[in-house]
Amino acid sequence: MTTIGFIGLGIMGSPMAVHLARAGHAVAGYNRSPEKTGPLVEAGGRAADSIADAVREADVVALMLPDSPDVTRVLTGEDGVFAHAAPGSLVIDFSTIRPDVTTELHARAVDRGLRLVDAPVSGGQAGAEAASLSIMVGGAAEDVEAARPVLETVGSTVVHVGPSGAGQTVKAANQLIVAGNIALLAEALVFLEAHGADLPAAVEVLGGGLAGSAVLTQKAAKMLTRDFGPGFRIDLHHKDLGIVTAAAREAEVPLAVGGIVAQLVAATRAAGDGSLDHSALYRTIARLAGRSPWDPTP
Ligand code: NAP
Repeated sequence: MTTIGFIGLGIMGSPMAVHLARAGHAVAGYNRSPEKTGPLVEAGGRAADSIADAVREADVVALMLPDSPDVTRVLTGEDGVFAHAAPGSLVIDFSTIRPDVTTELHARAVDRGLRLVDAPVSGGQAGAEAASLSIMVGGAAEDVEAARPVLETVGSTVVHVGPSGAGQTVKAANQLIVAGNIALLAEALVFLEAHGADLPAAVEVLGGGLAGSAVLTQKAAKMLTRDFGPGFRIDLHHKDLGIVTAAAREAEVPLAVGGIVAQLVAATRAAGDGSLDHSALYRTIARLAGRSPWDPTP
């Protein structure tokens, strides 16, 4: 069993750390707001009072933080992971961040005698709670193999997709697909509502055909009941579409559909819905159609 320092016990990190503790690993969890360590401690883990305290004894350091500046600060800051982790430790970054930032942090980790893999996840809060995440892993083959027992404890699909940063590139594509799916699902539901269709019946039959998807299964009911509690926040999806847009520009690839979806997500955030679940993209689509974004029976 492994000694793990887990940093970032939010919507995703908390259930992931709990699964690792329940699997018998010695998990020390650190979160900026200390009250979020409760579930990990209940599962047999330990609440660390600093990053140094979490990582000093760790063989593996796991991160689940919002964005590139957060990961950079936690790894390279004066009191950060690089300053306190033991030589040879393996850093597994589960956060979704920019691929170019990952490759730069990987190089700095190697300079310090550490190892680092990028392991962003898909599957949402439900996937984190069920330990059924899909994990796209970038890094050296031997580091990915060393990380595999930890990855397979929190995920059911673990695929090594290439060198450092490749996991983040695949995750960027994932976020493009998910955002496009959500936007079209929202448009279809607004369309069906405008026709006075039997919505539960429509969703049931759509789910059984080519229009069926994990997005439809997980998000249609949230849209129909206007239950927009997160989940995956619009703010985070806005961040991810910024990553996709920048990476596409770098590769000189246009995002004709994705560009429109990115603007719709930006508009949702600008309307004050940034802390809602990404299914709240429905509210922007409903507003565009001149319909109430809240009323369940428009
Ligand atoms: P979250 O609930 O906001 O959790 C983020 C955690 O990081 C919080 O515990 C927060 O501490 C901590 N944190 C934030 N900034 C920090 C900083 N600068 N230094 C130290 N700690 C900091 O976010 P989440 O939904 O778990 O998402 C985490 C990552 O997973 C993101 O990259 C996201 O894109 C990705 N992701 C999320 C989902 C999803 O469905 N939610 C699915 C797949 C991937 P405080 O408690 O103090 O704020």
